[in-house]
Amino acid sequence: MKYGVLKSYAVLENKHYLIAMDGVWFYQSKNIHCQHCLHRELKDGEQIYYHNMAAAALVKPGVETVLPLMPEFIHNEDGGELCSPEKQDCERNAVKRWLLKHETRYQWLNPIFLGDDLYADYPTYAAITEQQKSFLFTCKPESHRRLYDSLDEGCMERKTVREWTGRTHLEYRYQWYNGVEIREELPTLKVNYVYLEIWNEQKGKGTYKGSWVTNIEIMEKNVVELVECARARWKIENEHNNVLRNKVPPTSWVSS
Ligand SMILES: [Zn+2]
Repeated sequence: MKYGVLKSYAVLENKHYLIAMDGVWFYQSKNIHCQHCLHRELKDGEQIYYHNMAAAALVKPGVETVLPLMPEFIHNEDGGELCSPEKQDCERNAVKRWLLKHETRYQWLNPIFLGDDLYADYPTYAAITEQQKSFLFTCKPESHRRLYDSLDEGCMERKTVREWTGRTHLEYRYQWYNGVEIREELPTLKVNYVYLEIWNEQKGKGTYKGSWVTNIEIMEKNVVELVECARARWKIENEHNNVLRNKVPPTSWVSS
């Protein structure tokens, strides 16, 4: 903050910061386990024990470095006997705990939470909306039947942006709709839906498709940046989680 580094992470007219969240599995063993381990039965009947966490990081489109924030560990409370699989702690619960714990800490960032389809459920939307924060989550048709059924192609707003890559023309085809119900059961919540297809003119086919939901109003003037923000979510997987999993810490970190 002192050196203004954080300021360069602001997005959408410098009004918001992006907090990407993602589950990261950082320990597993068939033999060594503790009372807080998560567990799952493998096909051969053996148990595998593991630890994971809901990681959070500040990200920005076009910026390689991510800034890690406090994670929330996913672990079972009671030790001893193995609890049944459905009673185990899970990533969705961890995200809800994260939101409660850090409600005021990150308020000043006016954050937009980025998450994959796993987070795109009513309780998570409601928790974020109640805190008057924003979300921008992947929204796949398989897990959002009701939402996709109520979208009317003819009513969607559209924008196309053409780009020359030096080899081919790409057409970014955006479609969006503000105010669609997230689910059939009550209570429900209206969200705003956006879809992008990238059309490669040389290949004569689409090369990318993505869809998201948000509680930010989607407009002609912000649709391109909103989608760029949503697509920055992968940075937490690449620049944060994969580094945690695969990079050996410098020897100075290892206590002797
Ligand atoms: Zn353990």
